[in-house]
Amino acid sequence: AVKAVGIRKSFGEHEVLKGLDLEVAYGEVLCILGPSGSGKSTFLRCINHLETPNGGYVWVDGAIMGYRYANGALQELPVKHLRAQQSQLGMVFQHFNLFAHRTVLGNVIEGPMVVRGLKRAEAESRAMELLEQVGMAGKASAYPSQLSGGQKQRVAIARALAMEPRVMLFDEPTSALDPELVGEVLEVMRTLARGGTTMIVVTHEIGFAREVADRVVVMIDGEIREMGVPGDVLSNPADPRVRSFLSRVL
Ligand code: ATP
Ligand code: MG
Repeated sequence: AVKAVGIRKSFGEHEVLKGLDLEVAYGEVLCILGPSGSGKSTFLRCINHLETPNGGYVWVDGAIMGYRYANGALQELPVKHLRAQQSQLGMVFQHFNLFAHRTVLGNVIEGPMVVRGLKRAEAESRAMELLEQVGMAGKASAYPSQLSGGQKQRVAIARALAMEPRVMLFDEPTSALDPELVGEVLEVMRTLARGGTTMIVVTHEIGFAREVADRVVVMIDGEIREMGVPGDVLSNPADPRVRSFLSRVL
């Protein structure tokens, strides 16, 4: 479903991503682990072109993110088309990023109405199904400020799903939450994973990775140092720097 080849990104002199290759199949759940500053968020942001990579390409369902073929050559996509492409990747951030002045329902219908052109009634009935799915239907008319962190994050997940994305990207969705609220968000993600949603999840939740991920990637210093099934990577990493990282977090 998603394929990244040779992704590079620098900020000034600082090379943050040093040529990353990754392929995620339909229905696969891939967890990205790694120390702070290793480039995990930058990599996710390059995958959906919130950051433009300095090198490499990302394919989503065969289309190249940020580019199109015209007259046999690759051309940069106009912003409007890029936005449409980006809407195929649902992004869930650490800090929820809900619209503060909209209700829960308003948050979920916004994208489908504005970007996908759904009529309000259709957008609302679909949104209510999604809110049901994440256990938030009862709060449809609440405002984000009236919700707990875990509830906000579940709404953020419903909002991303409302765009019917090909893949869901999660950037440490539980690390801003009070410990007692982590479980409810992980439970929603676990259910999505079981339902066959393609997911790339940056997380510090090793237990979640071990249980839910089909494959785990460990990034260190802008490189993928280890990739494989959780049992192998988490229990028996070959790379000494990966071993040392995991011994600190396990
Ligand atoms: P964490 O686990 O703390 O979230 P991370 O693995 O997600 O870390 P990134 O946020 O991708 O790491 O950052 C990787 C490196 O790139 C860091 O050194 C960071 O300071 C740098 N960086 C990220 N974004 C920018 C930016 N917009 N401008 C300059 N430097 C940046
Ligand atoms: Mg990060």
